[in-house]
Amino acid sequence: VPVLEVANVVKRFGDTTALDGASLKVYEGEVVAILGPSGSGKSTLVRCVDQLEAIDGGAMFLDGELLGYERIHGHLRPLTDAGRRRQRRRMSMVFQQFNLFPHWSVLRNITEAPVAVHGIPEREARARAMELLERVGLSDKADAYPRHLSGGQQQRVAIARGVAVDPRILLFDEPTSALDPELVDEVLQTMKQLASTGRTMVVVTHELEFARNVADRCVFMAEGKVIEDRPADEFFRDP
Ligand code: ADP
Ligand code: ADP
Repeated sequence: VPVLEVANVVKRFGDTTALDGASLKVYEGEVVAILGPSGSGKSTLVRCVDQLEAIDGGAMFLDGELLGYERIHGHLRPLTDAGRRRQRRRMSMVFQQFNLFPHWSVLRNITEAPVAVHGIPEREARARAMELLERVGLSDKADAYPRHLSGGQQQRVAIARGVAVDPRILLFDEPTSALDPELVDEVLQTMKQLASTGRTMVVVTHELEFARNVADRCVFMAEGKVIEDRPADEFFRDP
């Protein structure tokens, strides 16, 4: 069973069809890069998986479980807000704009979800957050506030926050696009290291070097569809 299956998903915004029957499977431990021109539906795809957008057709499964619906007395019903939160807990998304809470310290940004949502004891969550901060090279920033960090540092904190809930899958929506060019590499290095620990990752990106060197598979989208899905080495050998 794939960790994630996207089957024939359709998503419309008014007259615009952002996803027009997009399909994709992602297996445990895989790193999948999603490439394609601007407007091809890449961001919409991961936002639909993360339940930030409701889909208009098709289906999505996480570990074989239908996303967006729950079974009540044998009938499938669209999720309540509580149900949606429960499903979203099993994934983490890293956004272009970091999305850290500005009035919380770096440490609190990382421990909040494990403590408040997953019920992990505070002490344990803090220890784990410190471990993750060490991994992203920011142990000395635990008590700092996001505004005191560079964009690259904020994004590394956002990645640590994503990992802290131990998600089944990590989704990245152009994680380096908002960064000054000289800060891109530190974030890609963090992602590369994360990939090497066996995390299942879907990465929407324009960074072809990252796709080539780190991704297992490259998916190319155009006009709301997945038009290519191949091992990364093959994808770049004969494009
Ligand atoms: P990509 O990530 O590949 O650049 P997007 O998923 O952002 O593409 O967008 C796909 C299409 O859907 C585009 O035509 C875009 O303008 C449209 N779109 C995306 N989000 C919205 C929205 N919230 N409202 C209206 N149109 C949208
Ligand atoms: P292993 O489980 O093989 O010992 P590691 O010790 O490398 O893996 O990683 C331990 C934990 O730290 C894992 O949950 C992994 O996902 C996480 N991790 C590794 N690298 C990073 C990173 N760059 N940023 C955030 N978390 C990371």
